[in-house]
Amino acid sequence: NIYGDRKNSLGRDYSQASDRELHAAALERVDSEKLTAGPIIGGKLRAGVNPQDVTNPYDRSRVLGHVSEASVEDVDAAVNAAAEAQVAWDRLGGAGRAPVLRAMADALEAELDRLVALLSREAGKTLNDGVAEVREAADFCRYYALLAERDFGGRQTLKGPTGETNELVLHGRGVFAAISPWNFPLAIFTGQIAAALAAGNAVVAKPAEQTPLIAAEAVRLYYKAGLNPDLLALVPGRGETVGVALTNHPGIDGVAFTGGTDTANAINRGLAARPGAIIPFIAETGGLNGMFVDTTALKEQIIDDVILSAFGSAGQRCSALRILYAPKDSADALIEGLKGALAAQVLGDPTDAKTDIGPVIDAESRANLEAHVERLSKEAKIIARAELPAGADKGDLFAPVIAEIPTPDFLEREVFGPILHVYRYDPKDLETVAGKLAARGFGLTLGVHSRIDAFAREVMELVPAGNVYVNRSIIGAVVGVQPFGGEGLSGTGPKAGGPNSLIRYAAEKAISINI
Ligand code: GLU
Repeated sequence: NIYGDRKNSLGRDYSQASDRELHAAALERVDSEKLTAGPIIGGKLRAGVNPQDVTNPYDRSRVLGHVSEASVEDVDAAVNAAAEAQVAWDRLGGAGRAPVLRAMADALEAELDRLVALLSREAGKTLNDGVAEVREAADFCRYYALLAERDFGGRQTLKGPTGETNELVLHGRGVFAAISPWNFPLAIFTGQIAAALAAGNAVVAKPAEQTPLIAAEAVRLYYKAGLNPDLLALVPGRGETVGVALTNHPGIDGVAFTGGTDTANAINRGLAARPGAIIPFIAETGGLNGMFVDTTALKEQIIDDVILSAFGSAGQRCSALRILYAPKDSADALIEGLKGALAAQVLGDPTDAKTDIGPVIDAESRANLEAHVERLSKEAKIIARAELPAGADKGDLFAPVIAEIPTPDFLEREVFGPILHVYRYDPKDLETVAGKLAARGFGLTLGVHSRIDAFAREVMELVPAGNVYVNRSIIGAVVGVQPFGGEGLSGTGPKAGGPNSLIRYAAEKAISINI
């Protein structure tokens, strides 16, 4: 039983001075270390190419460490070493592999404060987001360990009319490429690897360009947890170079990708053009996430949930709220409430426990967001913009925005950051308005605020979504109970952190025995 004794991991409480002290000490350590990331193959750090500084999004003058990119030869060596080690790993079966994943979960928890410090320095995460991320990473490891034990190794006997003994067994496919995003540089990075390993694969992982240091730390923790280093290699670098070399490598037997829809399509095209490759592509991409509110919903609750969904993690979650559909009769009151709540959000240094919203990931992202605000100021109406604190020009803090959009099809795709769009709708037009959102083709998260079950059900039927949340925020899916992932342009599935997560990482063998 997957749910039986399973416990999700515990966190920190930064309202307690003792927990804040742990954080401060860890931050000091991370700052003094000058970390190094580069290609890690067979457990060894290689020189790589194109060395660069890794800096802090809140303060670009702060150099955290250095990274070098994997060369084509590094990628080749990583895939070959992984392929060789994979066979024995696969033969261990789920029960043999699970202890390593559990040890990884323990190792992550043991390093909680250090990882939180690194998440805020390298990725600009607030402390609470950092803690949630470390916990999620640990939860993925423990959860996939359970799935490995459940599904890999035992034989499922399929009874039927043939008079033979028919069995179904699952096994690993070979070497997986795992390509992960900067917005969950620990949880998604660790989770993809844990899923592939649990199913009996070896992994070559390419972290996002912006967050190689935390990835290198996670790889070192996997080794510390007892994983044979040949089973997991790190190849940092750009998508155009390292990503392409990796997914085009003939030794890759599957690709797990989380990131933008365009990149997913590019990888998919590359895989289709690769001779001899018919391999699974597991993609989790962006969304265009809406929340529909009716007049029966509780205003205070809507405001809390909207602020968290749109501005939590600086809006840099695939699951984040992009468009709030406010019914025309209560829209004014709702907008007033949101304005007040936005003004109360604390923007600033993510390592400060009081901060609600930290920086966006880089200058390019900030420029894209500013360009969108420019469009909103011309073609829509800016309702509110938070104020930047003093010193914001040190890095990539971006002042969050609430804007009212004039038409329900104003947005074609997500704008990845803390910008909330509000559309005032007439409940008589629900079907048309929701239809316009559905027509964009995404299907990740969807929110409904209402006390009428029929309304919630209707919205769910009108708008495709992999994760639907009623009367709560639409972010922060919990491993094991809220499997996460979308449909349509938002991803292929299977969802992360759900009972079917491992199926596409595995091959199935049906055995009919007549002895
Ligand atoms: N799983 C995260 C959530 O539920 C989002 C993951 C992502 O942004 O890719 O908020």
